[in-house]
Amino acid sequence: MFAALALTISLAVAPKPHVIWKPIPYGPSRKAEMAAYAKKHYGIHSWRLHPKVIVEHYTGSNSFSAAWNTFAANTPDPELGELPGTCAHFIVDRDGRIYQLVRLSIMCRHTVGLNYVAIGIEHVGTSDAEVLHDRAQIRSSLELSAWLVDRFQIRIRNVIGHNESLSSPYHKELYKPWAHQTHADWKHADMRTYRAKLRALLRQDAGL
Ligand SMILES: [Zn+2]
Repeated sequence: MFAALALTISLAVAPKPHVIWKPIPYGPSRKAEMAAYAKKHYGIHSWRLHPKVIVEHYTGSNSFSAAWNTFAANTPDPELGELPGTCAHFIVDRDGRIYQLVRLSIMCRHTVGLNYVAIGIEHVGTSDAEVLHDRAQIRSSLELSAWLVDRFQIRIRNVIGHNESLSSPYHKELYKPWAHQTHADWKHADMRTYRAKLRALLRQDAGL
């Protein structure tokens, strides 16, 4: 009982890392597109996000600006031609800088099956290992995830990699052809390492 209480308290002390606000255009029309997407895929006619999950991604490229431009462009997906375009709430660059693109009260389209509950964190890079071994980048990523876990009382098991999306208890996809769709970024083995580091950071923040 005492241990459980201590853990709860420990989740309340992760400090907010420095975040650079660099918003992509997300006006009324993109919100309406997001609400229509949420209706079709989740049965929820809303663009409002109530975060329960954090999904880690990597961009597949080496440039922050390329990723930002892709998310800002709001282009339809190639398969269904649907809007809104993809986006993520955060991009963590290789130098450890954390950029926020979208407010945390708004859904972003980054993970099929989970956009209605998930904050998306992108990392500039081309593999899980590359990000895990980049000291500045992984440090910022863990600080960001720790702060979000604390702020929204997200369980560490719900900090997942994109490749783990299908096994999330929150996974939901009403559009049948996409019911088993996922991506290769952030596989289970690498996310076990990530979550262990995240637990260690939260314990350290709590002085345990
Ligand atoms: Zn991804």
